[in-house]
Amino acid sequence: MEATKTTEAQFNRFLKSAEAVKDAIPIMDLAPRYIDLQRSGGNYLGLCPFHSEKTTSFYLYADTNRYYCYGCKATGDVINLHHRCGNFGTLWEAVVSLAEEFGVTLPQHSDRWHEWQDEKGRRWHKAEEVLARAYQRRYFRLFGGYLDSIEDPDERKTEAAAFYEDLYTLARLSASYRMRSGDHE
Ligand SMILES: [Zn+2]
Repeated sequence: MEATKTTEAQFNRFLKSAEAVKDAIPIMDLAPRYIDLQRSGGNYLGLCPFHSEKTTSFYLYADTNRYYCYGCKATGDVINLHHRCGNFGTLWEAVVSLAEEFGVTLPQHSDRWHEWQDEKGRRWHKAEEVLARAYQRRYFRLFGGYLDSIEDPDERKTEAAAFYEDLYTLARLSASYRMRSGDHE
């Protein structure tokens, strides 16, 4: 279960990183290191790096930021080009390499990771609250004995309620301390 979650988080991080790299780097800026390019209108073309040819059929398209070869039908984006021509073992390595070279900031964690952190925070807060209430009841039983000496029932009731509320601050501190010392069940 945890492993699945981790894999999913990593995959999401990869997708977001790949998007960031694709958005930031024009394929025209990367391609010249692998291919001799000539201009053709707003696009570029050259000899395909993926198959042997004598006439240029490898096109780079500015509007889609992708390549397409009319000879071998190879197609892809800036990451695929770097991955294949740069001989990277994985797409992830190609993404990281491009990000470092072109100064693209990669997302550190996925949205799901942040959601999970928020969820953990909420769970922690709730556990602390439950523990604080338990301390509050315990302290009331421990220190509430003096209430029996109040003869007037209404006065006793009012004092008991006030005392119980006052104990919350102490109970909250105790719960917080116990949670942070890792001594909670
Ligand atoms: Zn080709």
